[in-house]
Formats: sequence, C-alpha cells, structure tokens
Amino acid sequence: MISAESTFVHEGLPGRVVFGRGTIAQVPAEAERLGTERVLVVTSPEQEDQGQGLAERLGPQSAGAYPRAVMHVPVGVAREAVDHVRRGGVDGLVALGGGSAIGLAKAVALETGLPVLAVPTTYAGSEMTPVWGLTDEGGKRTGRDRRVLPRTVVYDVDLSSTLPAELSATSAVNALAHAVEALWAPDRSPVTDLMAGSAAEALVPALEVVTGDPGDPDARARLSYGAWLAGSCLGMTTMSLHHKLCHVLGGTFDLPHAWTHTVLLPHVIAFNLPAAPEARERLTRALADDDPAALLLRVLDRLGLRRGLRDLGMPEDGIELAVSRTMDAAYANPREVTETDLRDLLGRAFTGAGPTDVP
Ligand code: NAD
Repeated sequence: MISAESTFVHEGLPGRVVFGRGTIAQVPAEAERLGTERVLVVTSPEQEDQGQGLAERLGPQSAGAYPRAVMHVPVGVAREAVDHVRRGGVDGLVALGGGSAIGLAKAVALETGLPVLAVPTTYAGSEMTPVWGLTDEGGKRTGRDRRVLPRTVVYDVDLSSTLPAELSATSAVNALAHAVEALWAPDRSPVTDLMAGSAAEALVPALEVVTGDPGDPDARARLSYGAWLAGSCLGMTTMSLHHKLCHVLGGTFDLPHAWTHTVLLPHVIAFNLPAAPEARERLTRALADDDPAALLLRVLDRLGLRRGLRDLGMPEDGIELAVSRTMDAAYANPREVTETDLRDLLGRAFTGAGPTDVP
C-alpha cells in the first residue's frame, strides 16, 4: 500500500513482448520490425529440428540455424559463434530455446552489438534480463549490459508444451525463485512487487497441472505469463541468498540449473521470510497459504519432485566449500547469514530434509 512515507526508485527495462498461441508465425515480421535482413537462429542441439523449422519460416531473412548452445555458455562456444556470425554477414540473432540458447545469443550480442529476438521455450526468464554469463576454467562470470537484453520476446504458449513434465515443473520453480527474491530485493518497487506477486499466483497452481497433463494449454499459458513477469523481476531487481547459492553450487559442482533452484527454494523461503514481513504478506496472499515454504514442499512431494542436493550429484564434502564460497561472495539479503546458518541450510538441502520447523 502506498503512503506518504513510501519512497522508491523504479527503473523499467525496454522491450516488446508478443504473447499468445501460435505466435511463432509472427517471428519473421518481428525480425523485420527490428530492421534485420539476415538473422541466425540459435538453439541447443536437442532443438535443432525446431531451429531449422524456424530458419525455413524466416525464408530469405534467414542465415540458417546454429544448434550449438550448451548450458552456462563456455567461452570457446561463444567465440566460435561470434566467428560464425562475422563470417556469415549476420545482422540479427533469433534465440529459440531455454536459458542456454538465449545465453549464447546474448554472448554474441555482447561482442557484436547485434540485436536479439528471443523465443523462449522454458520458464527460466533469461529473455527478460540484461544479464549475460560466460564460463571458463575459472568458473562462471556474469554481468549486466543493455546490449544483450532481447529487443523483442515472442512467447508462443504452445512451444513449451513439448517440455518434459519434470523440466516443466523445475523450470517453473526457477521462475518462482526470481519472483520470490524480487519480493525481498533491496531495490524492489511497488511495480516489481505487483509483478512478482502475480507471477507466484500464476506459476504454482499451473506447475501442478502441467505435471499431470503436459499439454494443458491454459496451464502452459499461465506458466509462460508467470515466466515473463518473474523474468522481468529478475531483470529489474537485485537477487539475494537463493540466487547466490544456486550460482555457487551450479558453478562449483556443475549441478543442473532448474533442479538446484527447486531443491533450495523452500529452504531459503523458510530462512528469509521471518526477516521480510512484506514479502511474507505478498507471498501468503499470492499462494493463498500462510506458510509458503511448507506449501512448496507439499507441492513437490505430491509431484514426486522432492530431491536432495546429493541426488543432483553434489559430494557431501562439498558442503564446506559451498559455505566458504558463499560467505566470500557479496550479496544482498533481508536476513544476516552466518556460517552456521549456511551449514544448517545446505546440510538439510543436501539430504532432502525440510527446513527447520517444516516437516
Ligand atoms: P536449457 O536452456 O539448458 O534447456 C534444457 C534442455 O531442455 C535443453 O536440452 C533444451 O534444448 C531443452 N528444451 C528447452 N525447451 C524445450 C521444449 N520446449 N521442449 C523440449 N525440450 C526443450 O535450460 P534452462 O533452464 O532454460 O536454462 C538454463 C541456463 O540459463 C543456465 O545456464 C542459466 O544460468 C541460464 N539463465 C540465465 C538467465 C539470465 O538472466 N542470464 C536467467 C535464467 C537462466
């Protein structure tokens, strides 16, 4: 609620969003609208056929498909893509896929300044952010640069219906994590609060539906909508403990991105909410439950999706390394985090136990 005491800074991000069913048909017109004449379609190898299909749809505007995106954008992969773009006279990038395909297009844009049009097929949300990431032997580096922010995002609700049930649910929890952390971000505003609350409201019931019925078009639409709102929050606010932990664990032990978010989120919600009363109030309202961490665990249990970090491949002696790397990193958080807190949180997340006080 706004009062005379309210004070905030809100910095929105530019971008055009096209949303609906079958909107992939609009990609050629949207690419033209950006003033491009020869665009490269960037995908993961697993989505090569889809990428070729989109390249054909683009007709004379197409510079072909480039199916070489992999998770976390290795520097060598980005360098080869930049060479390919320069040799091929490409003047725009169409990223079709999840965070990996969009991440590779962003890495090329960072180097070349080419415009990116994103067609997301997961709920990771990278399409709405100016955040890039690159990985080499020293780990993953990330940064913010407006050049990598997709100029246009085409959400075709039907595209994510081929996403397997488990990846649909964990990707939706990845989106939920952006919304939750936006609610306690130091630079949140009434607008990001609204978007984050609506994202949570859309995502949680819909992720349950698609796990049982992957083709349900209404649930898919709600997940894409929630991913858009949550991704926008990720782009406009500063993330806290949860994203820092996912970054450290993903980078140190090469854990799967969406799964790591899914395992950790109930623990971080339970830890932070006592110190974030406004976030608690918004989340409680959005999820219609006064214990959001317990609700999320119940949902994961119902769907058979409760896991521990050990099930994702983290070694037990890695807990101490993760604690020290997280303690060394700077990040915002509504609640002070001690080494003991981290050891306890990661120890529970490791085995798949619930947070303290949540069965
Ligand atoms: P992903 O892009 O790696 O996709 C996972 C797998 O699912 C891939 O094999 C992909 O081809 C396949 N896939 C994607 N959509 C599909 C569909 N509709 N049907 C069938 N298969 C499909 O996974 P992700 O979780 O979307 O992205 C993770 C990466 O994105 C990580 O590297 C993460 O760091 C990054 N990320 C970046 C940001 C940012 O703002 N920069 C935000 C979120 C995630």
